[in-house]
Amino acid sequence: MEVGGIQALRAWRKRQSGTVSLVPTMGALHSGHRALMDRAAASGDAVVTSIFVNPLQFGTDEDFFKYPRPFQADLDVCEAAGVDFVFAPALGEMYPAAPEVTVSSGRMGTVYEGAVRPGHFDGVLTVVAKLFTLASPDSAVFGLKDIQQFCLVKRLIDDLNFDIDLIGLPVVRDEDGLAMSSRNEYLAPADRAAALAIPQALDAAAQAASDGSPAGVEAAAQAVLHVAAERGDLDLGYLGLVDATTFQPCAQDFEGQALLLISATVGGTHLIDNVSLEFHRSA
Ligand code: AMP
Repeated sequence: MEVGGIQALRAWRKRQSGTVSLVPTMGALHSGHRALMDRAAASGDAVVTSIFVNPLQFGTDEDFFKYPRPFQADLDVCEAAGVDFVFAPALGEMYPAAPEVTVSSGRMGTVYEGAVRPGHFDGVLTVVAKLFTLASPDSAVFGLKDIQQFCLVKRLIDDLNFDIDLIGLPVVRDEDGLAMSSRNEYLAPADRAAALAIPQALDAAAQAASDGSPAGVEAAAQAVLHVAAERGDLDLGYLGLVDATTFQPCAQDFEGQALLLISATVGGTHLIDNVSLEFHRSA
């Protein structure tokens, strides 16, 4: 396994004769990241994993400086997953100066997570575009945990004509149901217990959706989150049932693939999760 910055990545990429798969991460790697790397390695591609905490996607009041950076442990995870190249550029190498030209995430980047974190998705798409240019991958593997990010990366690929296959993998959860996240390590035990209201709300929504209609889905999730918020240990950021292709709210008679999106702050930690739900009018 090679580890390096921009020059080393470019040199490594030139030496590849087969297909290359990219797994972008910010490090603090857990089983959710590992699933992405395993998938990339299983495809037979040479695998590049990037480890870069991207300042452009953090707000000024967010956790850029305190974001966990256990670099050696991350390298061990990459090695065990069979990663071929770990791209770990220095901050000044990726951004020698504040960039003048960046990617705009459009309307879809200003709703839900984008409304809570203004500028976040512009920062994400800018760094993803840079990673696509630098690694020139044939495919890229992302997690569906960050579903709005995933949908925007799909638009980035389509709208800017990147010739890259986008692969999305399901949310990896801990045994108690909480979606794995590098930020979970900020959670004290009581916070973690409160955070479980999020997957429980998604389960309640999926139950409500099982009658085939969007009616009552948001209310079912809301009821679960309301109980946690009443106890005072969870602040709901947003809860929305949206059309998976547009991120517009679903009407009561919506048909097709919808996403229930949840964000909440627990003990000062911002958490997100989602579930995909299908609605079809019964014949
Ligand atoms: P991050 O390091 O948080 O930027 O995440 C890097 C990639 O890992 C993104 O594509 C995430 O969607 C994905 N990821 C993070 N957590 C999970 C999870 N629990 N399950 C699946 N994918 C995940």
